[in-house]
Amino acid sequence: MDQTEILLQEITDVPGVSGFEDSAREVMAKYLRKFSEVSYDKLGSVVGRKVGSASSPRVFIGGHLDEIGFMVKEITKEGFLKFLPLGGWWGHVALGQRVWVNSSKGPILGVVGSKPPHILQPKEREKVLEISDMFVDIGAMDKFDAARKFGVRIGDPIVPDSRFTIMNNQKLYMAKAFDNRVSCAVVVDVLRHFQKTAHPNTIFGVGSVQEEVGLRGARTVAYAVDPDVAIVVDVGIAQDSPPGDFSKPERLGGGPAVLVYDAGMIPNQRLRQLVIKTAEENKIPFHLTSMERGATDGAEIHKSRTGVPTIALGIPTRYIHSHNGIIYRGDYDNTVKLIVALVKKLNKKAVESLSAI
Ligand SMILES: [Zn+2]
Repeated sequence: MDQTEILLQEITDVPGVSGFEDSAREVMAKYLRKFSEVSYDKLGSVVGRKVGSASSPRVFIGGHLDEIGFMVKEITKEGFLKFLPLGGWWGHVALGQRVWVNSSKGPILGVVGSKPPHILQPKEREKVLEISDMFVDIGAMDKFDAARKFGVRIGDPIVPDSRFTIMNNQKLYMAKAFDNRVSCAVVVDVLRHFQKTAHPNTIFGVGSVQEEVGLRGARTVAYAVDPDVAIVVDVGIAQDSPPGDFSKPERLGGGPAVLVYDAGMIPNQRLRQLVIKTAEENKIPFHLTSMERGATDGAEIHKSRTGVPTIALGIPTRYIHSHNGIIYRGDYDNTVKLIVALVKKLNKKAVESLSAI
């Protein structure tokens, strides 16, 4: 494995559902420390600051640390765990999956229990089970067993069980939490690049918390960093799997997505133009895309203080918000390349011109 694969493995394998990002933050901070000066905001987001040839402009490059998961909301008297979702889940992908319940006595493996088809009523077969009707089986005999012996408490986080895997096609990687640790890794690799290359600004490499429950960490970390310009990195939704529209540009190998619209942000138009120009000059594949539902951390960052020129980029990912996403290495490398090329251009004059009225 090369250094990026090791980084991706380390950062996706650790648990870190919204509000419980400690392990993911530790991994990111460990890497950021090699290339920058690390600090935190009080909600738990991590910031790596690297001063280039100028203290300003302040360039924010960020991904979110948290992954989707669940939280224990009730222990039944039989010892099963009812749970609430942290982030957006579709019942289809949760049922029958292995999960870790991080209890006061350590992680406990369990499974989201499902009925075998033999005993499903015809009506049940047709509908998707709600998360609120599901439960985790941790093998406890009863409530006492679950609480005392296993140490499970209401409020404990529940994390998908899945390991980073290089697929048979060695350019494809499968893991949980690519949404959005893949972007945290991109932030690290961009900072790694600037160890040897000059940049006319100060870079703030950010891993934000609690994105999946409503972009909460982005608000405080944007305030803390006080950026002059922001590049938000998140996953793009690859649609190149059945019964997808295979002519769409949102596919593995399509290069980074440049979001021209989402439900939370219309990007700064001059910055958008600069991104497109930079990609074209450097012959980096990219595609323009929009998302009518859903938003990125950019939705909070661009409204911080008096406003921040912001753009959101997406790394095409299949099957996000499930136990196993798939990415293509070329898209990862091209996203790093595009951000590096962009950061080199973001000097004082260039950034001032973004918000010139
Ligand atoms: Zn997400």
